Amino acid sequence: SKMTGKACMTLYNAELNSARERQLLIENDIREGLEREEFDVWYQPIVDARTQAMIGVEALARWPRRPGGELKPDDFIPVAETSGLIYALGQFVLRRACQQLMPLSTLKLSVNISPAQFRDPEFENKVASVLGTTHFPARRLQLEVTETYVLENPERARAAIANLKALGTAVALDDFGTGYSSIGYLRRFNFDTIKIDKSLAGLVDDDEQASVLVSGTIRIASALGMQVVAEGVETEKQMKLLRLAGCDQLQGYYYSAPKPLNEILQLPLQQQG
Ligand code: C2E
Ligand code: CA
Ligand code: CA
Ligand code: CA
Repeated sequence: SKMTGKACMTLYNAELNSARERQLLIENDIREGLEREEFDVWYQPIVDARTQAMIGVEALARWPRRPGGELKPDDFIPVAETSGLIYALGQFVLRRACQQLMPLSTLKLSVNISPAQFRDPEFENKVASVLGTTHFPARRLQLEVTETYVLENPERARAAIANLKALGTAVALDDFGTGYSSIGYLRRFNFDTIKIDKSLAGLVDDDEQASVLVSGTIRIASALGMQVVAEGVETEKQMKLLRLAGCDQLQGYYYSAPKPLNEILQLPLQQQG
């Protein structure tokens, strides 16, 4: 039998309520998790495409000690963003990563920054303060931001990027190829690096047209003076094609999944030094 309109509404409300409840539950867990230090930072190697030496790492948040079971960043980062907890979580990741990488003299560090964090007018000062307290050299730090952020408030984005570069820190455009902006528009923001998203980089070994698109993108970005990193490199074939297409750096499961720092340092990847 068909449901009555009222029954439908009740079901709909129940679903909305449970989505909202899940959100509130995770939000509360994040707050407690930050207090109880349940979060960790894991790292994934970034390799020089030519020499295959590890020249840096990307820091990625992990939540292994959550009492209700581990959640992946794709499940907790969005909740942290909408609840404002991303300020505390982001600051934790940045501070912890700078502390951990500090003793490793040449490895570069790349840290993800949410649009909400970058929007904070105090953001650059907070970065400067972490650099000050950890003594991590600004020139070894790169911050990764997405297109969403620059489109939302181009004026603030330009100012923030300029301020960060004045500190000596590099700024990368993350997930390039997932949005709608052209590289021509994005170049105005003076990114040091663009990171080609895995969905685009993964096309390199598909058909002729797809690979022309990937290599064209890489060529333009390089010609505009940006370093190009391909993420999501999973096979030797992709590695070779992306290197041939002109990527400067490569990152992906082919080299290693993200792991705790001590495990990353034991990988059979030669380090630049
Ligand atoms: P992202 O910044 O694009 O990070 C790359 C993601 O791709 C990571 O997922 C990484 O584990 C995964 N990945 C790396 N290599 C490969 C590969 O070869 N194949 C495939 N299929 N995937 C690969 P992860 O760690 O689950 O993080 C997901 C997203 O969550 C990140 O995407 C980033 O947007 C966000 N995130 C993670 N940590 C932080 C953080 O500390 N702060 C902020 N704001 N966002 C974070
Ligand atoms: Ca990233
Ligand atoms: Ca990315
Ligand atoms: Ca493919």
